[in-house]
This record gives sequence, structure tokens and C-alpha cells, in this order.
Amino acid sequence: MIIVSACLCGINCKYSGGNNLNQKVLELVKEGKAIPVCPEQLGGLSTPRIPHEIKGGTGKEVLEGSAKLINPKGGDSTKEFIKGAYETLKIAQAVRAKKAILKAKSPSCGCGLIYDGTFTGNKIKGNGVTAELLLQNGIEVITDEIIDK
Ligand code: SF4
Repeated sequence: MIIVSACLCGINCKYSGGNNLNQKVLELVKEGKAIPVCPEQLGGLSTPRIPHEIKGGTGKEVLEGSAKLINPKGGDSTKEFIKGAYETLKIAQAVRAKKAILKAKSPSCGCGLIYDGTFTGNKIKGNGVTAELLLQNGIEVITDEIIDK
């Protein structure tokens, strides 16, 4: 079984209230091979919601307690992002998922590259909080950008 970002399946869980539909990912769900999960909703955040970025590091540092999830108005949702990551891990372990296909660059789902916390579109190397936690627990993570190549 594969864990996939719910927004890639056309579910309107994105911060804007929209989605990031990817037909290849949706097909995996229709074939019963993948389960859609939205870490930010699982963490208790509403939809639509104000966008967040990681300040002071990457998902790794968030899990270690030295970086935060902030929004442009100064709000801090670090607790919710961490909760969402652990709830996603719980689902992944329950279905014995070995792999996840997640939305690129998201502060939760991004893998390899994420926004840098300045809300300017700049990116840094690193993983979102959920992607990092899944990787730390032996689950392979790739992004929608990889499967589209
Ligand atoms: S947290 Fe992940 S699944 Fe949810 S909207 Fe953001 S990128 Fe999509």
C-alpha cells in the first residue's frame, strides 16, 4: 500500500481550499493501491487556512524542536504540523505502507526541497515535517514531480 497526499487525488484540502490533482496518483487510489492523507488536516488545521512555511530549518529541525511552522501574520502552528505528521505515520504503519507519494515543496509533504520560511518563493534543501518523519521510519518518499517525469 502507498500513502499519497490527499490534495494530489483532487481532494480540496489545500490551504487555499483547492487541490493539486495528479491523474497518476488518483489512478493509484482508484485501483486500491494508495490511501490519501492530508497531514495538515489531520493535525487539526482548518481548510482553507493561512499558508505556513518552516522557519529556522527543515522538517528535521521541527521534529527536533529547533525550527517552527510560522505564517505571514506571525502565527505558530508547529504543534499541529507535528501532530499531523505523527497521525500520518500511524496510518502508514497501520496499512504497512512502504512508500509515499507526496506533494512537492509543501512544509508537510515536500521532500528534497521546501520553501525557506521567508514567503518569497525561495527554496532550500530539506523535507517537510511529515516527509521527514516517514523517512525516519523507513518509508520511501517521492514527490509528484518525480512521478510526472
Ligand atoms: S498537507 Fe500535504 S496533503 Fe495536505 S494539502 Fe498540504 S501538500 Fe496536500
